[in-house]
Amino acid sequence: MSTSTPKSKSNYVKPLITKLQGGMINKFGATPYYARKVRTNIDGVSIESLTKNFGSPLFVFSETHIRHTIRQAKEAFSTRYPNVTFAWSYKTNYLDAINAIFHQEGSIAEVVSEMEYDKARHLGVPGSDIIFNGPHKSIAALKKAAQEGAKIHIDHFDEIDDLEKVAEELDRKIPVAIRLSLDAGIHPQWSRFGFNLESGQAMDAARRITMGGHLQLIGLHCHIGTFVLEPDAYKTQIEKMIHFGYRLEETLDIHIDYFDIGGGLPSRSQLKDTYMPPDISVPAMDTYAEKISEGLNNALRPGDYPKLYIESGRALIDEAGYLITTNIASKRLPDGRKSYILDAGVNLLFTANWYKFNIETDRELAGLGEPSLLNGPLCMNIDIIDEGTMLPPMPRGTRVILSPVGAYNVTQWMQFIEYRPAVVLITEESKPLVIREGEDLSDLLHREHLPDHLKLNQPS
Ligand SMILES: *Cc1c(COP(=O)(O)O)cnc(C)c1O
Repeated sequence: MSTSTPKSKSNYVKPLITKLQGGMINKFGATPYYARKVRTNIDGVSIESLTKNFGSPLFVFSETHIRHTIRQAKEAFSTRYPNVTFAWSYKTNYLDAINAIFHQEGSIAEVVSEMEYDKARHLGVPGSDIIFNGPHKSIAALKKAAQEGAKIHIDHFDEIDDLEKVAEELDRKIPVAIRLSLDAGIHPQWSRFGFNLESGQAMDAARRITMGGHLQLIGLHCHIGTFVLEPDAYKTQIEKMIHFGYRLEETLDIHIDYFDIGGGLPSRSQLKDTYMPPDISVPAMDTYAEKISEGLNNALRPGDYPKLYIESGRALIDEAGYLITTNIASKRLPDGRKSYILDAGVNLLFTANWYKFNIETDRELAGLGEPSLLNGPLCMNIDIIDEGTMLPPMPRGTRVILSPVGAYNVTQWMQFIEYRPAVVLITEESKPLVIREGEDLSDLLHREHLPDHLKLNQPS
């Protein structure tokens, strides 16, 4: 037997079996093996300088993008119908700076609560340029809105009672609109807001308003849903609204000054259970404008050009918003998947429940992609931003830029476990400006009261 000199042993590495799934052809076509892109800047401001100056995570909005989008939307509609006004949906994103951009571009305000109403007034929007929607308006809020000449959109019969009381108190007739719910061919149908058209409830409401003698019905409102991917639904909607308007004229001698078709137009965002990228699955703004103007042409009598309000929210702001996050650590889960821990999670991205974000990194990543989880910083199992994206190994400190996140996140974010971060607006001159400061402990404490007998470290 010959003896051989022992070779130096390499360290034992536990074998790992992972299911291969990337890049396979399936009935939906080939999924991109690794579709991620590199993003080094937003509107010319480097990701590096943004995080250096304002920290991470960081919400970033592009003023250029917002102005471009609202101008395009206005053009799409105003070239097809002469009497259109946009009303900015506050709940979609009500940071003052964002609201102000829309108001500068000619949008009035659309609010769904007294809080939002107060925010619009505080910003300097006159009451007459506020559409007051929503199922909850206190008597005090209705009184304030009536006195300030807001467009009050009634949601239910009890609100008719409330407003009549306000009218009596103010000793004058209050102009109002009613919200309609109707079948525009999309499912599920939103039926919990407003008065149903097909059941005759809307006609009852109009009769009730006329008989009461304290209110004057001048407008009809309807908001059929959100992320509505069928432009035809809007055509059906506006035709039904106009026909109803003419019926009111014939039966109750009510003249409708304006029709408000609500919002619900989709942004270029990808719903989680869809396979087509938004560029294919989301119709263009022009398609919606075309269908809506067809409906107007079909239903309106020649020579009638009532005001059309559009309350589009997400379609006008979503793609203007980014969230810069940082990969703070990674780990291997027992099922073989890689998990990255980002410094932002569902506390800041409420919409992660429904939408799949674009994932971009501030640098090229070398290596093969593997199924990866993007988790947030919360000590909560549900804190998942993305599941199953193919990512090459991502070094600690990599900035991960998520988009579009401009709609519904900086209103529905939570002060839960973590501070909420700063929000920056990049101006048309590529200047980053803080439009909301990052929070600190004082934000948590300033409304709390600690009773004396619960104070720690006091002499006993
Ligand atoms: C939320 C809301 C909007 C905006 O909806 P989007 O889907 O963001 O366009 C418009 N009008 C009303 C009444 C709303 O509640």
